[in-house]
Amino acid sequence: MLTKTKIYLSSPHMGGSEQKFVDEAFRTNWISPLGPNVDGFEEDLRQYLGNNKYVAALSSGTAAIHLALQLLNVSKGDEVMCQSFTFSASANPIMYQGATPVFIDSESDTWNMSPELLEVAIKDRIEKYKKPKAIIAVHLYGMPYKANEINAIAEKYEIPVIEDSAEALGSTYFGKTCGTLSDIAILSFNGNKIITTSGGGALITNDLELKNKAVFLSTQARDKAPHYEHSTVGFNYRMSNVLAGIGRGQMEVLDDRVKARRENYNFYKTNLSNIDSISFLEEPEGFFSNRWITCIKTDSYETREAIRHALLEDDVESRPLWKPMHVQPVYKDCLNFTNGISEDLFDKGLCLPSGSDLSQDDLNRIINLITKTL
Ligand SMILES: *Cc1c(COP(=O)(O)O)cnc(C)c1O
Repeated sequence: MLTKTKIYLSSPHMGGSEQKFVDEAFRTNWISPLGPNVDGFEEDLRQYLGNNKYVAALSSGTAAIHLALQLLNVSKGDEVMCQSFTFSASANPIMYQGATPVFIDSESDTWNMSPELLEVAIKDRIEKYKKPKAIIAVHLYGMPYKANEINAIAEKYEIPVIEDSAEALGSTYFGKTCGTLSDIAILSFNGNKIITTSGGGALITNDLELKNKAVFLSTQARDKAPHYEHSTVGFNYRMSNVLAGIGRGQMEVLDDRVKARRENYNFYKTNLSNIDSISFLEEPEGFFSNRWITCIKTDSYETREAIRHALLEDDVESRPLWKPMHVQPVYKDCLNFTNGISEDLFDKGLCLPSGSDLSQDDLNRIINLITKTL
């Protein structure tokens, strides 16, 4: 009997030399949250992002956002503008700080934070004497947000931007790498991301002092003394040297992974373009997406569900687009500035299997299932 294998949404995909770096950690007994792989991985990322950047390797992307908020002195009672159409980890660290998120809806060309709504929201909050402390903008599914517009507003009102580039390593915006488009950015190396350390993240800044402060806070904030001396509340957020070894191997294949994911997108688009009820998110001029996940937008909730169920019955994983934060039970009472775009995407959108290790047979199988359904 022919048994079909399960197709996942986005699987980890090792390149080959990860094991060598991990073995090296074992051989030299650097089984700790510091060591040559942590330094090496930070250096690899720095080479990739540009030498004027400083990188702190951390335990997760969530930890990186939390530290970024700390570095910007976001604290109890402060408000932070946050893209509503995102994964909850973009917003949760705002709550860890005792601050309050204000959710901003998306615009249709990139599905990311609407610059117009952002400015409306900032003006409203300033009028009410609640000037926001920071802006968290997200390059969702690898598509860059409109950084020129967002940064111009941020500069006008003097509010720092945290660039959530968790899904966008390998994407570029007018030739600049995502993760370098603002003063503080974060990456994630979770198992489902374009490259992975199984779990991990990084904070990127152009200020060496900020990097050093991030490392200090991430390693329990130990002051200089022979004993353990603390004058600040610290965190245990540094990346493990074993896992950083996986990251070093993955950096060798990052370009291949971007290429493979973009090929998935092109294949889906070519083979589904004759179906009127499906549309794709195109790259605006100057935008280059790593196509971490290929997303489709259908003409209705019913069409989306029909496709999702047909795939599920054949053991193919797909997923509705992110449910916007402003309609999540945990965040529904927070202030928000909306225009209906992210709710519409949540209703009608679907993430298709997008791993860099999908075979041509896998892709054909998915296309057949979708075409048969419609
Ligand atoms: C994955 C992700 C994060 C969090 O990263 P972790 O490493 O999983 O903690 C944050 N923001 C976005 C948009 C993500 O997709």
